Amino acid sequence: MEPLLNYINGAFVPPRTGESLDDLNPATGETITTVPKSGELDVEHAVRAANAARTAWAATTLEERIGWLHRIADALEARSEDIARLESLDTGKPVSLARRVDAARSVSNFRFFAEHAATLEAKVFESNGATNHVHRKPVGCVGLITPWNLPLYLLSWKVAPALVMGNTIVAKPSEMTPLTANLLAEVLHELNLPRGVFNLVHGLGPDVGQAMVAHPSVHAISFTGGTATGAIVAKTAAPMFKKLSLELGGKNATVVLEDAPLDTVLDGLVRASFTNAGQVCLCGSRILVHERIKDAFVHGFVERVASLKVGDPTDETTDMGSVISHAHRDKVEGYIRLAMEEGGTVLTGGTSDATPVDDAHPDGAFLRPTVIDGLPIDARCATEEIFGPVVTLHTFQNEDEAVAMANATDYGLAGSVWTGDAERGHRLAQRIDSGIVWVNTWLNRDLRTPFGGVKQSGVGREGGDWSLNFFSELSNVCVQH
Ligand code: NAD
Repeated sequence: MEPLLNYINGAFVPPRTGESLDDLNPATGETITTVPKSGELDVEHAVRAANAARTAWAATTLEERIGWLHRIADALEARSEDIARLESLDTGKPVSLARRVDAARSVSNFRFFAEHAATLEAKVFESNGATNHVHRKPVGCVGLITPWNLPLYLLSWKVAPALVMGNTIVAKPSEMTPLTANLLAEVLHELNLPRGVFNLVHGLGPDVGQAMVAHPSVHAISFTGGTATGAIVAKTAAPMFKKLSLELGGKNATVVLEDAPLDTVLDGLVRASFTNAGQVCLCGSRILVHERIKDAFVHGFVERVASLKVGDPTDETTDMGSVISHAHRDKVEGYIRLAMEEGGTVLTGGTSDATPVDDAHPDGAFLRPTVIDGLPIDARCATEEIFGPVVTLHTFQNEDEAVAMANATDYGLAGSVWTGDAERGHRLAQRIDSGIVWVNTWLNRDLRTPFGGVKQSGVGREGGDWSLNFFSELSNVCVQH
């Protein structure tokens, strides 16, 4: 594949640093291409272009920008298969998953925000003999920083609302998964989006991301990534009073009540645990099971997990591909070893020390889906975000204990409750300190709803009106009659 370039001011350009990074396929260990290792000057170039384009883009009508989003959705849809293939190459995820989740959602993000922005209503309040008119203006040039687990899915989730509200963009995808951000730039270029409205700068977080966050002419930062990185971003942005949205890590609880119909919910529980090799911020990595059904649960769950097909991401029948990198595999394996030191028992999976997980791909960063039992709820493996195909099992005796265990973490992103009584599940869900809790389902998303975390899982909400508000400055004009 041709080396990737930055996309700045309507042109594909090499980085001013003249340096590049290798982009690796984690399922084979092979180099796919190279990606610019950009620096401050490249960010400066992009920020200038985005600011130069601001006035004209903000002067377009909402209807015109909605039209742009529909055209982008159509163009991405026409390239769905490319998106799926590139996402699978970059991340090691099964191409079938990339097609079903990443490609489909990238298209629907643009479609959704086009339709949702069309429902915006003028807000007018009468009082004290005056009329208050709430106006929306774009924030300006916004910086969008995204992680590697759902590359175009998460980038498009920010680009669509930012564009439709009239902002111009400097985007930085993860250096490990740059291919589909580049595809998006190609699509926008072919559609003749006015130059400077969307700019893409590739490179490392501390170089490019930090320069974006610190730049005084980047007026808002929407960041999705790890909690430790989010803290660095917040530290830089806060004294500048920049608008900031932080979507960070999680350590989500999956609560299985004693009345859960195991025959029908186990497949959902496996999905909630191991989709994308557990590398979805919403995956449940701590399974809390009522002690009365523990044995039946373990029997059915472990059997299903052990039968997942791990290996070649290009094989349509593969359930789980590789993790994102060899370094990440080593980190996850380190946690599995730690769990054993902490007194845990591996019920299925484990490290890849003895035999390669996929004989045909001995150099791939594969791991078997791993279930660990017997750890205390405050063990490191049960409290730190592993972000891989590893779940820990814990038992509880009653609802209060389940809630206490679910909340015994510094994170609060997501969770799920599984029960035969939806009302009971709803009541329990409200006691869990998380931005989102599913009852008898998982990753069932209505894009109009608020999405985001509490505690160390982030600050702010995305989705529907919340995204449109983040990418707008609201001002009130009060006219005395
Ligand atoms: P990361 O924090 O390492 O990187 C995220 C992005 O930030 C990358 O583009 C990276 O290059 C950039 N970055 C790194 N250092 C930076 C700095 N100093 N300044 C600015 N930008 C910097 O995260 P990751 O490993 O790519 O992704 C995994 C993490 O993302 C997990 O913790 C996961 O839970 C989280 N995540 C959260 C959500 C959510 O919606 N809450 C969604 C997906 C992933």
